[in-house]
Amino acid sequence: MWRASLDRLPTQNALRRRNVQVGDGSCVFCGETEESVDHLFSGCRVACGVWIALAKWCKIPHFFVFSPLDVIKMVSYLAESNAKKERIYGVIIGACWTMCKARNDKIFNGKPTNVAQIVADVKSMGFLWRFFSLLGKLVLASF
Ligand SMILES: [Zn+2]
Repeated sequence: MWRASLDRLPTQNALRRRNVQVGDGSCVFCGETEESVDHLFSGCRVACGVWIALAKWCKIPHFFVFSPLDVIKMVSYLAESNAKKERIYGVIIGACWTMCKARNDKIFNGKPTNVAQIVADVKSMGFLWRFFSLLGKLVLASF
């Protein structure tokens, strides 16, 4: 997220700025515009679909973001408890990581993806994190 907020991810736009040949440079999800960090996490219709689905899943109002930094800051504006904000923040980080992974799987492995698959992957990862968090608390309590 730190690298994304600084526009330091190797998107097609960023690679092109460094004179790396990247084909037509369009977004691998939608193909509608040039792929940039802002587009990948906010402007792309795939990202918008992911945020809508995850806002519903987290029971928070739908939000509009224009950059990765907006995604990070959005959590602090929610009228929720700190514990829920921490969970939502984890979901958002997981969603960004999953979108990057889906993008890379499509580019390097030709694996197709869609909003439903990305959201399902985020949800399953969320349950693993919850399991690992509980396991960590149990381990700490036993010592
Ligand atoms: Zn796109």
